[in-house]
Amino acid sequence: MMKITRDYVHDIMRASQPPVAFCESGDTVIFETRDCYNDSIIPGEKQPKDDDPSYANPATGPLFVDGAQPGDQLKVEILAMDLAPQAVMRTSPTDGAFPRYFKERYFQIFDLADGRWVQFDEGLSLPLSPMIGVIGTAPKEEEIDTETPFDHGGNMDCNKIGVGTTLYLPVNVPGALLSMGDLHALMGDGEVLICGLEVAGEVTVRVTVLRDQLKVPTPFAVRDGRVMTIQSADTLDEAAGKAANAMMDFITQASGLHPRKSGMLMSLLSDMAVCQIVDPKKTVRVEFPQSILEHYGVRLP
Ligand code: CA
Ligand code: CA
Repeated sequence: MMKITRDYVHDIMRASQPPVAFCESGDTVIFETRDCYNDSIIPGEKQPKDDDPSYANPATGPLFVDGAQPGDQLKVEILAMDLAPQAVMRTSPTDGAFPRYFKERYFQIFDLADGRWVQFDEGLSLPLSPMIGVIGTAPKEEEIDTETPFDHGGNMDCNKIGVGTTLYLPVNVPGALLSMGDLHALMGDGEVLICGLEVAGEVTVRVTVLRDQLKVPTPFAVRDGRVMTIQSADTLDEAAGKAANAMMDFITQASGLHPRKSGMLMSLLSDMAVCQIVDPKKTVRVEFPQSILEHYGVRLP
């Protein structure tokens, strides 16, 4: 199985980013990723090394998927995640929801017990729920740094993107140019302090090019019987409107239901959640039961 090592990172998603690996549609590939502070942890140490500013949120890749052409969609099935044994968090005096509390960046390293638990303090251990913070394809024309989420994916910080998730991303350029990084061992919706439980690791994915099949409004995820639109914009209001309308359009067009009916179903059954409020654009997702789509004959590719 092909593995792209942590040596191959970049911090801008763009059409001109040279691919570091090539695969066929249907292949399984491992991405080895650095933590979002460019691997600030020295194994076994309790303090991180100095924050290395050479990359912020480094993403491993990009992977060129043979045959992927603009207008296709890329299906990314997340098969496995393996986390490094230690993770890190920090405070921020300038960003996140609580900068008034902090005068400096304070880093703390946490031990992860066999990838399943974190010892938060002496009396409290928490179960992990690993997720991928940054995952995306090259955007159409513009360059987007790996701190920013948008229509290509990127730094969405959606805690539903983990093992068992199928993610659909746009193909804007030949080969799609898939990259990922910024794993979190655990993170709540909103990511309110400034970070998740930041960790290096490995992600195993299967990538499939979709053409001439039902189109989903990318970025789009399926997990645990829920379909999700994940949209980013300058404000939460805008992101919420984008995510809700992306789901509304999809349900209406794919099912053939009258918008009165699909709108009512969404008001009854969809859930809106804030993925993160800490990145240059904010991210909101809207979830809807897959079983209801299937009831109306919609099958996802
Ligand atoms: Ca992030
Ligand atoms: Ca992060």
